[in-house]
Amino acid sequence: MKQKLNYDLLVIGAGAAGFYAAREAARAGLKTAIVEKNELGGTAFYWGSLPVKMIADKIKAYQKTKKMLPEFKLDLKKTDFLLQAADFKKIEAKIKKDLSQAGADLFYGEGHFNSAHEFELKEKLIKAERVILASGSQVKTNAGLELEQEPIISHKEAVSFKKLPESMLIIGMNIEGAEFASIFSFLGVKVYILDQKDSLLPGIDQDLTKVLKQELEKNGVEIMTSTTLKKAEITELKNQKVVKVEVESNLNSKQTKTTRAVQVETAQGASSTGTKTLIVDKILFTAGREANFPAGIEKMQLAFNKQGLQVNSKLQTTNPAVYALGDLNGNFGIASTAINDALIAVNELKQLDIFKNKLKAHYKKPVTHLKTAAAQTIPLNIFTLPEIGGFGLSETQLKAKNIAYRVQKYYFKDCWRSLISQKKGFVKIMLAAESEKILGVYFVGDQLSEIVSSLSLTADLELKDLLENIYIQPTRTEILREAALMEPKLGSSF
Ligand SMILES: Cc1cc2nc3c(=O)[nH]c(=O)nc-3n(C[C@H](O)[C@H](O)[C@H](O)COP(=O)(O)OP(=O)(O)OC[C@H]3O[C@@H](n4cnc5c(N)ncnc54)[C@H](O)[C@@H]3O)c2cc1C
Repeated sequence: MKQKLNYDLLVIGAGAAGFYAAREAARAGLKTAIVEKNELGGTAFYWGSLPVKMIADKIKAYQKTKKMLPEFKLDLKKTDFLLQAADFKKIEAKIKKDLSQAGADLFYGEGHFNSAHEFELKEKLIKAERVILASGSQVKTNAGLELEQEPIISHKEAVSFKKLPESMLIIGMNIEGAEFASIFSFLGVKVYILDQKDSLLPGIDQDLTKVLKQELEKNGVEIMTSTTLKKAEITELKNQKVVKVEVESNLNSKQTKTTRAVQVETAQGASSTGTKTLIVDKILFTAGREANFPAGIEKMQLAFNKQGLQVNSKLQTTNPAVYALGDLNGNFGIASTAINDALIAVNELKQLDIFKNKLKAHYKKPVTHLKTAAAQTIPLNIFTLPEIGGFGLSETQLKAKNIAYRVQKYYFKDCWRSLISQKKGFVKIMLAAESEKILGVYFVGDQLSEIVSSLSLTADLELKDLLENIYIQPTRTEILREAALMEPKLGSSF
């Protein structure tokens, strides 16, 4: 006989979206259950985004000390920049504590839906008035390779390495691929990165990626653009599993349309014989993701679109009792918007008549400030070394849209605060050609995320807003005033 449990809200998945939805709904007074099949935290907090930044933070601390105190020495081979089991425990402990303090019930396991209101989890039958699906996404490989088959890995294994590999091929020059290339090359791993597209971080302005590219190449990264993975075969070298890879490069596709096979000599010394082959310890896939749909989803009367589950601006699926958040709805695929989705969905739930009497006094106030991610500026931050970040329209986008614009640029090396600590990087402000309206602001440099995040709070900016602001002195954020004081140049800065 199953144990019957009744809830106002059932949340599936304790990643960015699910955790925020369950915590905020429970805080507001809804009887909330959350179910997680793996570790708490999902891709955002446990398996991807946050761990990468935690490792990068350690590296940045080292880099900064080294720049400021040239006599500082550390044996990098003996220093552990990777995360420890205790770090992951801390992440899970915070989620557990927050959920428990809010009053949400946490269950582990992978159950299935019998209907939109009934979920079976081992010996439990959970009934819920409303359901939030937040089961995220997972890496999808190509080239017929299966993940979790050593040495083919995803971000999950990459953030939890106990021992670093000697060499690695990263498939995908997207944000994730570029971040991993930065941290692993700094840590001494021989990194190759390939993409069928013709640039590193496609879509990002080239003057920004140029600074990153120089840094990656300085750390020995081989960047293979317009290149595809043709064949990969698991084999053994010195009693260790490695992957023999054939990559095909269409380097001069635009000029000659010729294709040629490329062989890259490995750090481990494979021989070179004309046609090039790559032998690496690990292949890290970053190049595609697919949604994780919970079992029984076909019994919930939901519609799907190309990206994932179809939702309206309230994040409601085609079944009004069911919401789909974060990577599952496929709208943006980032944690910042997944969290925003959660706040919007909970705000919608709070306004339902069936829940109004359950809300705690503080949470009865109508919330009017929330906007869907689609309706607001989404800031961007790429946590490479150096970082790239900003918001609004980039020059690439402005050119594609044929919008005339002016640019004002200023360099971190000329800012008081970073005069001796930062040689590289700049900010550029893109202004409308005929007015003072700011169309976009983009940076490349060290530790940008806090600057970008606070600036995008007021993304609807005019140049005078940057000039009127009184900046804390001395800070790196003053680069905005310095750039705002420059004479604008019409058109492209690269
Ligand atoms: C390496 C990497 C770096 C990234 N960096 C950034 C970044 O810097 N900034 C940013 O904004 N975004 C970043 N992202 C993207 C971000 O991590 C995701 O967009 C975000 O995690 C999506 O949140 P989510 O809640 O939808 O899914 P997730 O965080 O993946 O959570 C889904 C949860 O649901 C669980 N689950 C799945 N199926 C079931 C089931 N049937 N039953 C119970 N539980 C289930 C999963 O185990 C998981 O815990 C990064 C992604 C990667 C891979």
